[in-house]
Amino acid sequence: MTDSPTIISREDARAAGLKRFFAGKKLCKRGHVSERKVSNGQCIACDQEGARKRHAANPDKQRERNRKARSDDPEKVREQNRKWRANNPDKCREQKIKYRANNPEKVREQNRKWRAANRAMLREYDRQYRKDYPEKAKRWGITYRANNKDKIQKHNRKIYGDGSTERLETMRKLYAEDPAKYRGRVNGYYKANPEKYRAQARQRRLTKLGRLKAFWGMIKKRMGLKQGARQKLLIYDAETFQAHLVSTLPGEMTYAEAVEEGYQHDHIVPISYISKNFPFDIACKMVVDLDNLRFIPATENMQKHSKMGEPYQLKVLGILKERHL
Ligand SMILES: [Zn+2]
Repeated sequence: MTDSPTIISREDARAAGLKRFFAGKKLCKRGHVSERKVSNGQCIACDQEGARKRHAANPDKQRERNRKARSDDPEKVREQNRKWRANNPDKCREQKIKYRANNPEKVREQNRKWRAANRAMLREYDRQYRKDYPEKAKRWGITYRANNKDKIQKHNRKIYGDGSTERLETMRKLYAEDPAKYRGRVNGYYKANPEKYRAQARQRRLTKLGRLKAFWGMIKKRMGLKQGARQKLLIYDAETFQAHLVSTLPGEMTYAEAVEEGYQHDHIVPISYISKNFPFDIACKMVVDLDNLRFIPATENMQKHSKMGEPYQLKVLGILKERHL
């Protein structure tokens, strides 16, 4: 309930340049104790009641009028709204609460848009906050992570999970910037978390693709890095293996130089394709077949990312099928 306005006669209000006057507890014909208009003596409460009734009877018309007012003079409407909010903070808060309760989807969408448009500012604010209140920020982070495990897991899966393009893009960028640093980071992570490395390796070996990749990893290790190690699994020796890969290099590069330059062993028909389309024992033979192997720069290898269907790949696939099926 607002306080009663100060009593002022119509003449005094007119002299002071006011638009309204208040004659005290004098009732209008409908029984209101209300301010009146200086211009025509009309009761303000009656006016408001009339407006409410007209609005209830024909909300579309009122909405149309509001729309027109906004388009005719948006600044004026904004100013009116500002004034109303400043004069009615309680009503304003109530309205906001009601709006949020009635339009949760809309509010979420608005907030999301606002955050997207102000991401840089929010990030800067976060940074500053963490700097100013490191302890608070840390505590907040612990609480948030404890309360939003599912959300975080979902987010991480989207960003870092298998098949995430965002993750691949990030990895590619980091690798292109500094291959040695990238490799160091990955190796460092696994060195610091050996149990995670073992768990992941175990998980990978549970699938056919994983078994094939593990198999290839072992072959590669024996052929490329540990010469003279047990080779009874193989149909070729380390020299043959390396000579073939060198033959796929440009110019006069040696095997050691290629490794130094960051060249990687590439399967022309990807291991994933082989795994999906052939039984394990045949797939193993295809994976180690020299005609399916070449050296390519690591960045290219990451870009290729097990795509299949290029003419040169189909040609090699034909050779592999004829030889091993
Ligand atoms: Zn009245």
